[in-house]
Amino acid sequence: MTVYSLIIYIQQYQYVIRTFKNLFMQVILMEYNKLNPEEEQVIVYKATEPPFIGEYDNFYEEGIYICRRCNAPLFSSKSKFSSGCGWPSFDEYIPNSIKHLPDPDGIRIEIQCSNCDGHLGHEFLGENLTKKNRRECVNSLSIRFIPKEKELPKRK
Ligand SMILES: [Zn+2]
Repeated sequence: MTVYSLIIYIQQYQYVIRTFKNLFMQVILMEYNKLNPEEEQVIVYKATEPPFIGEYDNFYEEGIYICRRCNAPLFSSKSKFSSGCGWPSFDEYIPNSIKHLPDPDGIRIEIQCSNCDGHLGHEFLGENLTKKNRRECVNSLSIRFIPKEKELPKRK
């Protein structure tokens, strides 16, 4: 086998792997709510929406915040507070609804939806902003608000 044919072989192998991965991701994502490109950047590729412009940054209605991708209930409006950071902030979450992972930056704690692994934002502890001393800093694009009087959509 020449070096050239080996390179071709490796490229083909990588192509097959990538194709299978994309197909797998499509099947996985199809089960969930369809996302627009901005939502996908945040929820799937862990981007952060710009501060102070999110739909729920300055928003204090009574209800429940669910995952925008899978409808799992994540936060109650009772735990939402004004942190001034520019993103929706919560000092509590619905039990077992989110998971905490070390962020690839090695400093922060990433938070994800427990049900679909969608990216939500980051957790910050010890800031003394509320009695619970915790801030779940969430992208508006990762969540959807359901008013108190409305029925929650079915979890996917
Ligand atoms: Zn989810």
